[in-house]
Amino acid sequence: MKRIWLLNINQNNPIEQGWGQNWSKYHAFIESKAVCGEYSQDTNFIETGITESEIIKNPGIACKQCRAKIGVL
Ligand SMILES: [Zn+2]
Repeated sequence: MKRIWLLNINQNNPIEQGWGQNWSKYHAFIESKAVCGEYSQDTNFIETGITESEIIKNPGIACKQCRAKIGVL
């Protein structure tokens, strides 16, 4: 199963995302669905080509639930 990390720009609820001004997070997508179950892929997602090793190095940039589900902590 191919897993990709996409950046979510949450325009509806920036405060809940935390992280001050940097409130966008990467979510892990498998078959166009975020593994945290909160999102499906649409135009609000920008594919940036980030690799999973970047997520592992900087876990704070990724969705906590997604990381927990796939065991990247
Ligand atoms: Zn997520």
